[in-house]
Amino acid sequence: MTEKGITRRQLIKQGGLALTALALPFPLTAFTKYNKMKDNKNFDVIIIGGSYAGLSAGMALGRALRNVLIIDSGKPCNIQTPHDISTTAKKQVEKYSTVKFYNGLATNGIKKESGFEITTQTGDKFTAKKLIFATGVKDIMSNIKGFSECWGISIIHCPYCHGYEYSNDKTGVFANGDIAFEIGKLINNWTKDLTIFTNGKSTLDDEQVLKLKKHNIKIVEKEIDYFNHKNGQIESIVFKDSTSEKIKALYARPKFEQHCEMPKQLGCELTEQNYIKIDPFQKTTEHGIFACGDNTSMIRSVSYAIAMGGIAGGMTNRELIEDEF
Ligand SMILES: Cc1cc2nc3c(=O)[nH]c(=O)nc-3n(C[C@H](O)[C@H](O)[C@H](O)COP(=O)(O)OP(=O)(O)OC[C@H]3O[C@@H](n4cnc5c(N)ncnc54)[C@H](O)[C@@H]3O)c2cc1C
Repeated sequence: MTEKGITRRQLIKQGGLALTALALPFPLTAFTKYNKMKDNKNFDVIIIGGSYAGLSAGMALGRALRNVLIIDSGKPCNIQTPHDISTTAKKQVEKYSTVKFYNGLATNGIKKESGFEITTQTGDKFTAKKLIFATGVKDIMSNIKGFSECWGISIIHCPYCHGYEYSNDKTGVFANGDIAFEIGKLINNWTKDLTIFTNGKSTLDDEQVLKLKKHNIKIVEKEIDYFNHKNGQIESIVFKDSTSEKIKALYARPKFEQHCEMPKQLGCELTEQNYIKIDPFQKTTEHGIFACGDNTSMIRSVSYAIAMGGIAGGMTNRELIEDEF
């Protein structure tokens, strides 16, 4: 509990585990590890990415008696979530002997007559009838000193994930133009002590500036030198003119890239916003390939990734049944 009540993470921990028996990717020692000497290299489904979405898909398929391999390189986008969530949940997933886990990076995928062949960085090769990409996205960090250290702690992207804990605090928005306006409008709901830091000349238009002023949202155009912090907790923004401003939280929306290029290489179409294109059942534009989680959606939340993973798992099983029956 925080002084402001239960955190969203605790809520996920309590609610999410009971409902979905799901896990985070590290440490993944609890999984039935793929055994090179003993195990078959041919699977019904290979899931690339073993975080929230991938594990959820694995759970659905493992329970559907499908032989599944989850390949995970252990680099989820959100490294701040407490590890006890993963430890408890993974104990639940490991019950399924149908799900094997391979710790490593999948680097190449090719189409075969009977499905797909995946090669890992160390040269191991596996085949499967179907593929699921649960590979997430990579946020591109600002190179301003202190940004990456604070990312996910006090430099945050989502008010639904972190806003309650910072409600009514002295808060900043690190953005410019239309994005700054949209984030400012949104965060005004959580705090009335809000400043937009444009890091150089503002590109907000006159109408936007007027509206922001009406809501007492300040605009600072000074160039930022660095973010002053203690263990990731931001304390102030230091400008290039050596002045500084105290702050408790800063919202930022960094650009992102797909964590894995393989869906594109295998022919899966991407949307204009750089997400893997899917239908309502998580099927990509390529037959036999499904995708779920952050790589397919701008709505980034643990619960949504889990939900999408469950659908992807179920629909992949459905496609196998259609092929086989
Ligand atoms: C800083 C931060 C804080 C957040 N806080 C919250 C919060 O409080 N509450 C909330 O609900 N949501 C939060 N989110 C959002 C949430 O973490 C994501 O929506 C969720 O992690 C998405 O899960 P995913 O499985 O799609 O992707 P990820 O968790 O990013 O996992 C993708 C996995 O795929 C693996 N992978 C990628 N490519 C390959 C490859 N080629 N071979 C093998 N493995 C590969 C990666 O190593 C990684 O383990 C936060 C996000 C961030 C960035």
